[in-house]
Amino acid sequence: MLDKVVIANRGEIALRILRACHEIGIKTVAVHSKADDNLKHVLLADETVCIGPAESMNSYLDMPRIISAAEVTDAVAIHPGYGFLSENADFAERVESSGFTFIGPSSKAIRMMGDKVSAIKLMQKAGVPTVPGSDGALKDDPDENLRIARDIGYPVIIKASGGGGGKGMRVVHAEAALLNAIALTQAESRSAFNNDEVYMEKFLETPRHIEIQVLCDGQGNAIHLGERDCSMQRRHQKVIEEAPAPGITEDQRNYVGQRCVDACLEMGYRSAGTFEFLYQDNEFYFIEMNTRLQVEHPVTEMITGIDIVKEQLKIASGEKLAIKQEDVRIKGHAIECRMNAEDPKTFMPSPGDIKLWHMPGGPGIRIDSHIYSGYRVPPYYDSMIGKIIAFGNNRKSAMTRMENALKEIVVEGIKTNIPLHQEIFQHSAFKNGGTNIHYLEKRLGL
Ligand code: ADP
Repeated sequence: MLDKVVIANRGEIALRILRACHEIGIKTVAVHSKADDNLKHVLLADETVCIGPAESMNSYLDMPRIISAAEVTDAVAIHPGYGFLSENADFAERVESSGFTFIGPSSKAIRMMGDKVSAIKLMQKAGVPTVPGSDGALKDDPDENLRIARDIGYPVIIKASGGGGGKGMRVVHAEAALLNAIALTQAESRSAFNNDEVYMEKFLETPRHIEIQVLCDGQGNAIHLGERDCSMQRRHQKVIEEAPAPGITEDQRNYVGQRCVDACLEMGYRSAGTFEFLYQDNEFYFIEMNTRLQVEHPVTEMITGIDIVKEQLKIASGEKLAIKQEDVRIKGHAIECRMNAEDPKTFMPSPGDIKLWHMPGGPGIRIDSHIYSGYRVPPYYDSMIGKIIAFGNNRKSAMTRMENALKEIVVEGIKTNIPLHQEIFQHSAFKNGGTNIHYLEKRLGL
């Protein structure tokens, strides 16, 4: 097993990783910014290294400083968490070439999946269903591009191959706007991603977001842990996630899950990963792969009983995956609410001093959060302050437990989005399940 791990992240996920490490006897090094010396995992870590000022650019995104911290503490591996450097192939490569283990896939896999055109090609080879589209990057040929769009049928979406975070995409509803939209997306992605390759897809108008979790050891063993439904979104940010996805049959899950496993084996993928799909009219359409741990991984852990972070650590230490596909049993239902330090109506961030922090409990309630009474939420980072996860034998029970848990929460000193969650849990469309990705914004009149 790994002896000592650097946790190159902050907040709840850093604490989540620390807990998994300590559970299996791995020592931890918390690397943190000057603004973060009071973070819970920093207080609990075996060793800490301050790697720079509050600004992420010079701390959590500073590769040499993180690698130096691993060197001075004699750590053997680095866990990047999510966000920050977690999907940066150059970082993974530097970690590897400095002699450390990157707790995640190879830099090659990150690079391949980070390029959406190459990711889609690989998926098609493995039989993963993709969105009807241009079959590769668009060429500098207006007539050909007009023809492709006509064949696909409007509306279409122009997407940057190197895009991410919801940037570098443009929907086109009619032929007159196509060529201009291609040129604009190219220019935008050249400046944002240093890559002007763009491609075209059919724009699906009422899809759900459904994703498949995989675990692979890079030694020929890969499994999927079923799906999550993350359709409750605002500005492409997930607000509530659940597993399993309402209405998805076991046959559908097994079929699409197995195709994802095939794709992983095909590319020799290692560690945890997520295949994101749009789902509409009973069909799955692959859009991208996330080559890292996801915020919403707990809902899958709750319904499978598998600790995804511990599995990542075991895989990184060279162990073979001990879980076989037939051992993966989906039991019950889990829902996660992301708790943000923000105004529930205007969504303005609300950092500041937490005067009182009281979290719910009882059967089936899990809280993943780094917050405690007296902690000050700094203004420099993402506003997520924790996740409430409710598990029940079925969806109704998980929903009821979450509703009751939300009522127990007391946070004083800052604003949170708990009132928004409470409101969503009153919506009959959400109670019924299966709402599409536009539901929340439409319902909130955004
Ligand atoms: P990013 O890497 O920027 O997150 P994605 O490819 O994952 O980009 O797409 C982000 C979001 O954009 C999706 O969750 C969906 O809401 C929307 N989107 C992307 N492709 C399509 C499509 N073909 N049809 C409809 N919506 C799409």
